[in-house]
Amino acid sequence: MERTFIKDLKSKTGSEASISGWVDVRRDQGKMVFFDFRDGFGKVQCVVLPNSPAIALAKEIRPEWVLKIEGKVNARPEKNINAGILNGDIELEVLNIEVLNKSETPPFEINIDTMPVGEEARMKYRYLDLRTERMQKNIRMRDKVITFFREYMHKNDFVEIETPMLMKGTPEGSREYIVPARLFPGHFYALPQSPQQFKQLSMVAGFERYFQIARCMRDEDTRGDRQPEFTQLDFEMSFVKQENVLAYTEKMFIELVGTLYPEKKISETPFPRLTYKEAMEKYGTDKPDLREDKNNPNELAFAWILDFPMFEKNDEGEIQAAHHPFCSIKPEDKEKFMKGEDLFNIRANSYDLVLNGYELSSGSIRIHERTEQKQVFDLLGISEEEQQRKFGHMLEAFTYGAPPHGGFAPGIDRIVMILQNEPNIREVIAFPKTGEGRDLMMNAPSEVSEKQLKELGIKIDRK
Ligand code: ASP
Repeated sequence: MERTFIKDLKSKTGSEASISGWVDVRRDQGKMVFFDFRDGFGKVQCVVLPNSPAIALAKEIRPEWVLKIEGKVNARPEKNINAGILNGDIELEVLNIEVLNKSETPPFEINIDTMPVGEEARMKYRYLDLRTERMQKNIRMRDKVITFFREYMHKNDFVEIETPMLMKGTPEGSREYIVPARLFPGHFYALPQSPQQFKQLSMVAGFERYFQIARCMRDEDTRGDRQPEFTQLDFEMSFVKQENVLAYTEKMFIELVGTLYPEKKISETPFPRLTYKEAMEKYGTDKPDLREDKNNPNELAFAWILDFPMFEKNDEGEIQAAHHPFCSIKPEDKEKFMKGEDLFNIRANSYDLVLNGYELSSGSIRIHERTEQKQVFDLLGISEEEQQRKFGHMLEAFTYGAPPHGGFAPGIDRIVMILQNEPNIREVIAFPKTGEGRDLMMNAPSEVSEKQLKELGIKIDRK
């Protein structure tokens, strides 16, 4: 008999069916055995009657065993109907059980929410944690959100372009991960902190509308709910003004919520707009939480924060780009910028989207002229030699007909976290790392063999 997915069992009511999956909860009731059985797409109650040829085996099975079951799909008697849940009105009368694999007793219960379980155990046995209903939902909804974005982008003439993982650093204000290049001893690739430079170069290349579900890697010290790698909906558009990017993004988010989360309400449309200065003065933060009722999981308070400063001081008091060095300057501040005056009051054409107190995304209209880009590097105190070495390709690309362009990069983990009402992004990432950047399941990072180190020409200083 061909396998039926449990979600489709109802259509077989009155006939026989074969299902495969895992034993969920088991209830031995003397002569009969009841158990819930699940596959990737649903659950159903199974009944093994005292006279079933499968009864002896049914008494042996334990939670998480993998079975192939054949049986008869019966409508439940009226009084046993469990309205409102999948297969609440049918059950499978088991005629045959084939054990495909047994299971050890799991380190935590899988048929209840694992939120209260210690995170170490959940991470070490992530493949078990992911079997739970909440985690399955989170990961499947994440896929739906990503699919929505992909389709939305494609409908609007964007093309998805994969950009390299092995590259030279792109400054996004964090430390980068580096990868030794075996064929060039002493040389390293950097993993992308974002595809920023490639997306801009895709504009120079004439694609006009680029997007990518992009993995970004940043080597940050443990700081709140961060992950060393995360995912952005990275996009870039040519011949646009800030207003175009904002309008495009706003429409996309309204449609996302309406399509996938109709139970949620956006507090205000068009999304309220504040300048960075106004937000700081009024709320003391550039990611204000504008919800009326902060305990209402269905309230979504989006807001735009505009006109961020171009430059800021880092902890050592040195000047750095507040967002990244590719943002263009507001026309009103262009003169100061070209003269190199009053640097910390120069504003960029840059914008953030915040939601319920989280920064969802940053973006800007970019520089597309060489002189202006060089001026940013000069003001950042980057020497001529370093400019050439690090960003020579950008400066050169801008001399070959670079169009005006701008973009944005909403963080997918955060969006899904908020929409799924989860307290942190680890709940919506299939295989996340701990706060210290460790993968407890694979035990990464780990040491490499002497042979590998030798090939790479690397010596470890074990101090
Ligand atoms: N690359 C930027 C970031 O990762 C986003 C952007 O400016 O489009 O924050």
